[in-house]
Amino acid sequence: MDKFIPLSVPNFNGNELKYLTDAVKTEWVSAGGAYVDRFEYEFAAYVNTETAVACQSGTAGLHLALILAGVEAGHEVIAPTLTFIAAVNPVRYLNAHPVFMDCDDSLCLDMAKLKKFCQDECHFIDNQLINKSTGRQIKAIVVVHIFGNMAHMEAVMDIAQAYNLKVIEDATEALGTYSLAGRYQGKYTGTIADIGVYSFNGNKIITTGGGGMLVSRDPGIMKRAKYLSTQAKDDAVYFRHNEIGYNYRMTNLQAALGVAQLEQLENFIAIKQQNYRIYQSRINNGLNGLKILTFRKDIRPNYWFYSLYIENPDKYSRKKIMESLAQDNIQTRPLWGLIHEQKPYLTNQAFMIEKAFSYYNRVVNLPCSSNLSAGDVDRVIKKISSL
Ligand SMILES: *Cc1c(COP(=O)(O)O)cnc(C)c1O
Repeated sequence: MDKFIPLSVPNFNGNELKYLTDAVKTEWVSAGGAYVDRFEYEFAAYVNTETAVACQSGTAGLHLALILAGVEAGHEVIAPTLTFIAAVNPVRYLNAHPVFMDCDDSLCLDMAKLKKFCQDECHFIDNQLINKSTGRQIKAIVVVHIFGNMAHMEAVMDIAQAYNLKVIEDATEALGTYSLAGRYQGKYTGTIADIGVYSFNGNKIITTGGGGMLVSRDPGIMKRAKYLSTQAKDDAVYFRHNEIGYNYRMTNLQAALGVAQLEQLENFIAIKQQNYRIYQSRINNGLNGLKILTFRKDIRPNYWFYSLYIENPDKYSRKKIMESLAQDNIQTRPLWGLIHEQKPYLTNQAFMIEKAFSYYNRVVNLPCSSNLSAGDVDRVIKKISSL
């Protein structure tokens, strides 16, 4: 049997052990410690923003982001159906309700449908967007940058401004992606909307085992993010708490990994880009009925995940492609089950979902780790070519 080629695994060839050992030796292992501050500082510098607040996971970050955006019980939040469920679950933690939107060909939120929904399905009264069918106020939009691509931020920010909505960028898959043109030229994903959230889970482009980061231009929001993530302590000596807080602060051990990983991020992106180009040129030019989905042309993507798209489903079935590759010890993955079809969300509103179904049936993610060798890529492509 040939060696196993996983879908997406960590790459620890930098200073990870050195910094981690240092953190253990100094006995700063918990929340607090020099690496947490350093990771936040260096992360903020990388995405070119003032401050960043490190937390336990992307999911925790999204939970805090929704609170900071003012989402409360009974509100509605617009979210994509094509994404990982962690982009949506925190809405329910707050007893608010998601309304599901379709994707466009970037796999990100379809802005035309988003606009149509706000225009046709809602009233805008007293500066509040009210969903006609439920009578509830829509408070925010969670926009997700799928697989390292970039959602159309100009459109979503215009819609949000017109209807007084907050925008949370779920940039958990798109750290390092930035815009090359237009109003947000040079801006990194996560830094455009009101609040941005990143993840350092094991399969993300850099990892701290588990971890997340929040950014915002608003220093008040950042201050509150740190406060809420550290048990909302108003007096550190006498332990006074005026609000319900969370134990969401990143630990120094996680941050030690984070600092080492961040040092290598641009290198990881360069490797991912190189492998992406090999997949793309050999599959798109050689195989009828299959292609690698492209990223938007007006961005620098981080090339996190590669999507094999089945143009001709009569010729290739998703299931068969995945099974054949698995027989050769190559791991692949279908898209996530659409969120509006998951049991906890069956009664939530879903607006004009079309493309998400089609992509769900036709996309297979291929191995994309930054430690993938040229030989590994060749093996995957040869196997696909033989189908
Ligand atoms: C990974 C991911 C998250 C959650 O991040 P965790 O750090 O695993 O909690 C949220 N949204 C999307 C789109 C993700 O891919």
